[in-house]
Amino acid sequence: MSLSDIVDPKILSQPVYEPGRPIDDVAREMGLDPAGIIKLASNENPLGTSPLALKAMGEALRESHLYPDGGCVHLREQLAKRHDVIPDQIVVGNGSNEVLELLGHVFLTPDDETVMGNPAFIVYKLVTLLFGARAVEVPLTNHVHDLDAMAAAVTERTKIIFLPCPNNPTGTINSPENVKAWINRLPERVIVVIDEAYAEYLEDETDWHDVFECGRRLVVTRTFSKIYGMAALRVGYAVTTPEIAALLQRSRQPFNVNAIAQVGALAALKDENWVRECREQNRLGLAQLSAGLTTLGLPKVESCGNFILTQVGDGAGVSRRLQERGVIVRPVGGYGLPEWIRISVGTEQENRRVLAELPEAIAR
Ligand SMILES: *Cc1c(COP(=O)(O)O)cnc(C)c1O
Repeated sequence: MSLSDIVDPKILSQPVYEPGRPIDDVAREMGLDPAGIIKLASNENPLGTSPLALKAMGEALRESHLYPDGGCVHLREQLAKRHDVIPDQIVVGNGSNEVLELLGHVFLTPDDETVMGNPAFIVYKLVTLLFGARAVEVPLTNHVHDLDAMAAAVTERTKIIFLPCPNNPTGTINSPENVKAWINRLPERVIVVIDEAYAEYLEDETDWHDVFECGRRLVVTRTFSKIYGMAALRVGYAVTTPEIAALLQRSRQPFNVNAIAQVGALAALKDENWVRECREQNRLGLAQLSAGLTTLGLPKVESCGNFILTQVGDGAGVSRRLQERGVIVRPVGGYGLPEWIRISVGTEQENRRVLAELPEAIAR
């Protein structure tokens, strides 16, 4: 009997997530000096990690022999304050991706459907398929989630509907007014997941209290991977109803968030000046990239995240030739956008570099 005969068949057909390539990998393959390579492929923070968080984590390393706080008590308290909810409404995960997976554990069976946009963050689909449920993908209209079409795709079987605000890889967002009106029109039993991985980059954050007060099954996810510059540490969280939070808590591992990450996240939350500085630098960097792409005559999608989608012709080929020149960007063929690449906002110098390398990478 071959191994595949005893494997759950949905594992064999499960698509594989393709992450942005690490600098060391590209250096080895291309025979380049890693110091000369820049990575603008995973929407990481080009300014690094909050210095306060780095200091706190350095000290926390000394306690590495102890298990972490399995309940993330301090972090949940501070996050609850930050969002003006109670700690029982907060669930912390090993990245917000884990929170998305916990939703699958709790709610999804092979009889269920989820609704999501296309192209949208791929993890919604991966989680859905992992639990044997059906992913109903609704095409975006002009790169923006089509809320009416998504609502129309909801059936009796729909358990979860995913809406990233803003979306990755497009960087687009639906207005909070439209989103709230849309939630109101959805059947009350549906779990509405609003993925706010990039919310800290927006001028204004959306206040979801009124939606919770209507008794809606809302799950708002956030992450420390983006503006907080802690992608390596893997911390994300959900703000949701106490009932949903209790179910998600049951489905996670006892020590799902490591102690270093908890300490780092606590310190990063307090470092408001640093976050403000990162937001401002991103605004400038996005404008710089956007203007540069216009000068190069490349179509682009107006973004409110820390990345921009641009149409270069052969996205995979251009990405490869940029890599040969020491610039890692993200091809998005896997998102059904073979002509486009996604460029994360870097430092001013990094942005200048990718703009300088693009014409030759396109011309070959
Ligand atoms: C980057 C990203 C996340 C973050 O995932 P983590 O597991 O917290 O690192 C979540 N949602 C979207 C849309 C993203 O682009």
